[in-house]
Amino acid sequence: MSTPELPTPCAECGYELRGLPSEGMCPECGASIAASLARRSLGLAAPHYVRSLRTGTDLTLWALALFGVAGLARTYLGHAQGFAAVGIGIDCVAAGLLLAGTWMLTPDDPGLHPQDQARPNKRAMRAGAVGILATALLLFILILSRSAGRSHTSLFPDFSAIFEVAFWLVWATGMANYTRWIAVRLPDNALYNTGRRTGRALPWTIAVWFMISFLFGAAPRVLPMALLFWLSWRVRDRIGRSHV
Ligand SMILES: [Zn+2]
Repeated sequence: MSTPELPTPCAECGYELRGLPSEGMCPECGASIAASLARRSLGLAAPHYVRSLRTGTDLTLWALALFGVAGLARTYLGHAQGFAAVGIGIDCVAAGLLLAGTWMLTPDDPGLHPQDQARPNKRAMRAGAVGILATALLLFILILSRSAGRSHTSLFPDFSAIFEVAFWLVWATGMANYTRWIAVRLPDNALYNTGRRTGRALPWTIAVWFMISFLFGAAPRVLPMALLFWLSWRVRDRIGRSHV
């Protein structure tokens, strides 16, 4: 039997073991390949680590749903008196949930080698979530101060969509790649391919949202939110069934 045809670093030294016989030893450090595979298996990971991943995906799903709903509300109720601030207030709550969920979804696995933690993907997701929250809060403060009568320059709201889209792009790309890393650990080839396909579809979906939102406001964000919801749902579903 061979190791999966997917990236599989040695748990001791980080050497790439892809395609090597699982009965053998790591060519770099001599550790047992079977032991590395067992340590990489999400089903055998520390229970508190897997619990954190589950709660993280739950919070992320709530956040994505709320973002979608807030986008529709902002567009279709946005002209009602005072609703713009409410809509962006909901965005702030959703962004707070996303940040909490992202943090809980991306801890280091205490059982794995430091080089095998998918840290670039986790950093992208955390940076993206911080940026999404910062943009929402800043926009909220500007809207409040404007409705309080102080006439501010509208420079930021015009540019906020660019920041918002950039941070979502960073978060979504990180999430798609992180999904592939989790899929290898299950292992689950279908989830791996979902991560790869979603990773390809997300940039243009987010770009389309960006262009359409210039005409229709925040509503078209339902498109990327639905795609991200589906991806996170698949991850949540598989993590939920992984632990014995
Ligand atoms: Zn090794």
